[in-house]
Amino acid sequence: MKRSYIFTFVLAGLAGLISCNAQTSKMDKEEYKVTKTNEEWQKELTPEQYHILREKGTEIAFTGKYWENYKNGIYYCGGCGTPLFSSDTKFKSGTGWPSFWKPIDPKNVKIIKDTSYGMVREEVVCAVCGGHLGHVFNDGPRPTGLRYCLNSASLEFKAGNDSTKEK
Ligand SMILES: [Zn+2]
Repeated sequence: MKRSYIFTFVLAGLAGLISCNAQTSKMDKEEYKVTKTNEEWQKELTPEQYHILREKGTEIAFTGKYWENYKNGIYYCGGCGTPLFSSDTKFKSGTGWPSFWKPIDPKNVKIIKDTSYGMVREEVVCAVCGGHLGHVFNDGPRPTGLRYCLNSASLEFKAGNDSTKEK
């Protein structure tokens, strides 16, 4: 019993090391204004936010807090507070994740090629802290034809703030 416990512990530790290294080398290539250690992020974020923003997780469809939110306002990065998307560009995608056809400023998001799970997808991350937001697809509505498919847990919505709205 005890031996198997230790074995599991060592295995988990090894897996942690491998994924940590992979993540660090990936992160090193990118330069972000806001950089924190995993421990710091863990302290600041909820476990769900940490898993999605820092470990590139995906929330289960139709369970997030914003997929059905159609109030006017701005969606900020849950990691660093950068304004990312406006309710003006949010649309009903039917996917169960908050979907937008355009970011507030293309400079605020970064697109990275993601080849995980045997698929080629375009990952969307916050350009300021590198937090994972979701993916972008080419089947969105006009005028961009893009669908930014994001996790609610990556975002922080504030109602009524239209200061960054384009007129
Ligand atoms: Zn951020």
